[in-house]
Amino acid sequence: MLTSLGTALVTGASSGIGALYADRLARLGYDLVLVARSAERLEQVAAAIRSATGRTIETVKADLTIGGDIAIVAERLRHDHRISLLVNSAGTGATASLLESDPRMMSEMIALNVDALMQLSYAAVPAFVARQQGAIVNIASIVAITPETLNGVYGGTKAFVLAFSQSLRHELAGTGVHVQVVLPGATATDFWNVAGLPVEHLPETIVMPADALVDAALTGLSRHEFVTIPGLHDATQWDAYETARQAMAGNLSTSRPADRYLAA
Ligand code: NAP
Repeated sequence: MLTSLGTALVTGASSGIGALYADRLARLGYDLVLVARSAERLEQVAAAIRSATGRTIETVKADLTIGGDIAIVAERLRHDHRISLLVNSAGTGATASLLESDPRMMSEMIALNVDALMQLSYAAVPAFVARQQGAIVNIASIVAITPETLNGVYGGTKAFVLAFSQSLRHELAGTGVHVQVVLPGATATDFWNVAGLPVEHLPETIVMPADALVDAALTGLSRHEFVTIPGLHDATQWDAYETARQAMAGNLSTSRPADRYLAA
């Protein structure tokens, strides 16, 4: 067995991307704390990884839209000194337009994709900073920068994950704590069934297998990459986008309106 790299706490580990992170991280040498609502599916994932790797794996049944459950996981992140990696993968999406969506379901999505991710980050970061090491991996989505795709609230939640990660990275520079944000495109998981559009309805050319997605994201992590977009082949496109954003940053706040808004 490999020497332990510490413990990785993975949310959304009962299926899809989170379950694959769990598998790959255990093979790399992490012990695991796996979090999701389905105790049975979590235990199945844990048992398979235990028998393949012999690592120590604990499961925590938690609904991360419920304050009390978030508090239990947050407490663990604050006080378990073995935890060296937080993977925020739990998330749900939707494909329906605003006119066809139930606002209560949208609020639930925000609770999970935004509020839970924020609260768990606030629990993990001070502990990591105190130990001058640790990493947070936030699973966003390409809809963070293409919100016209899928449901607008879903896009908004993932834009939050990207913006929050950008800010975290800025704040944590020099602390020894690494932040990575992953922007998957369409990935073959249960996500699409839950979101209301089976993945088989998408063109095959735009759908990535979940294991390929996670392996690519982990390659990005091993290179200390900040933004990882596994499906984007021409990385200079992101670089140009980011360069344009940063060039504009210093010009956005000024003491008078731009000439185009001044009365003739
Ligand atoms: P998935 O297979 O449906 O996995 C979602 C995970 O989140 C499951 O483990 C689910 O477990 C957990 N979860 C759902 N609601 C929860 C809650 N209230 N509390 C705690 N855990 C909850 O989908 P996935 O594709 O792996 O999604 C993982 C992440 O990738 C999400 O953040 C998603 O937005 C993002 N993403 C996915 C795609 C894609 O095309 N698949 C693309 C871009 C981004 P339980 O049901 O057991 O709770």
